[in-house]
Amino acid sequence: MPGTGVGGLSSEQGDRSVLNLNVLVLPGDGIGTEVTGEAVKVLRVVASKWGHQLTIREGLLGGIAIHKTGTPFPAETEKLSLAADSVLMGAVGLPEFDNAPPETRPERGLLGIRKAMGVFANLRPVRSYKALLNSSPLKNELVDGVDMIIVRELNGGIYYGTPRGVYDDGPEPYAVNTMAYTKSEIERVTRMGFELARKRRKKMMSVDKSNVLECSQLWRRVVVEVAADYPDVALEHILVDNCAMQLILNPKRFDVVLTENMFGDILSDEGAVLAGSIGMLPSASIGAKKPSGAWTGLYEPVHGSAPDIAGQNKANPFGAIGSVAAMLEYSFGLTEEAAAVNRAMELVLNGGKVTADLKPAGTPATTEQVGEYVCQAI
Ligand code: NAD
Repeated sequence: MPGTGVGGLSSEQGDRSVLNLNVLVLPGDGIGTEVTGEAVKVLRVVASKWGHQLTIREGLLGGIAIHKTGTPFPAETEKLSLAADSVLMGAVGLPEFDNAPPETRPERGLLGIRKAMGVFANLRPVRSYKALLNSSPLKNELVDGVDMIIVRELNGGIYYGTPRGVYDDGPEPYAVNTMAYTKSEIERVTRMGFELARKRRKKMMSVDKSNVLECSQLWRRVVVEVAADYPDVALEHILVDNCAMQLILNPKRFDVVLTENMFGDILSDEGAVLAGSIGMLPSASIGAKKPSGAWTGLYEPVHGSAPDIAGQNKANPFGAIGSVAAMLEYSFGLTEEAAAVNRAMELVLNGGKVTADLKPAGTPATTEQVGEYVCQAI
């Protein structure tokens, strides 16, 4: 699929032409509020044009939730997120919490909502746009034609494993984190990756560190087992350190990149270099299929709250708007509407009406202007 590049996980709702879209919006902090504002405008235009009923509720997450309720992921937000068909998130993080311990920081809200919604696969499409080739620090010929999707396991691995902690009870302070995976955790995300590969160029690159880590040895074993059910998809394995290099040296060789939580976290930021700006990147975090046939989905731009430009109407809203396109497709099965949003974004990009991070030739557009241009182009 052009645009977000995340096509392939089609929902079974595709044959229903008019839907009731019940969406929770969690703007969060900093530029999160600005970019989700534009993404919601786009969602409203789509709903009105295609005649869908749209119900939007708003909730608190991150620093603003700490200010208003004392916790980054309030119980009310959890209730709302489980009741919604789909959740659109902005970004969380405020500089005033930079020195706070991890459990009291706004970012803890992200781990909380991902766990509560049971989203176990984070899909990060990375593609190059002709109009943005010069925005990447890499040579045009390396970047032109890049079209991959990084599938990152989101619910396991070292970010969640126990025991964990910093301990001061020994002869010197020490710290422990635990990387752990079960076969079923690896299997479900691997199947999702293969399903996506089947709808794309049928190439699967599984990333691990099986020369050193036991978790990676199990990872590779399970991926090979699952691959037997997808003989039409070509499977390759690559060690994570080599993958980090190949993503820059030869990014066009990648189609679906499948990896565990921490490796995916790190590798997917290389996607920002390929796409020209971190503000371009959407993401979709997917969980189990609902009885309705739609996939549980949490959609958010890849970037953070960007305190350095917050409140200045400068943030690039394409990552958030691309996340809406992904939501339309995955959570609601509205492929035509999703494609229309992606086409509109491309039109605006080609017209050069973009924010300062994309280094336009003329005066940069504001966040609100870019949102407005996309709405008009739909
Ligand atoms: P960041 O992504 O917020 O910003 C990194 C750089 O990219 C900054 O220079 C910023 O101005 C720029 N940038 C980011 N998004 C942009 C956009 N849409 N348009 C134009 N420029 C953009 O990362 P950071 O500075 O490392 O983190 C800031 C805060 O965000 C921290 O508190 C961090 O923990 C948090 N964070 C949250 C998330 C999330 O909510 N998913 C992700 C990453 C970081």
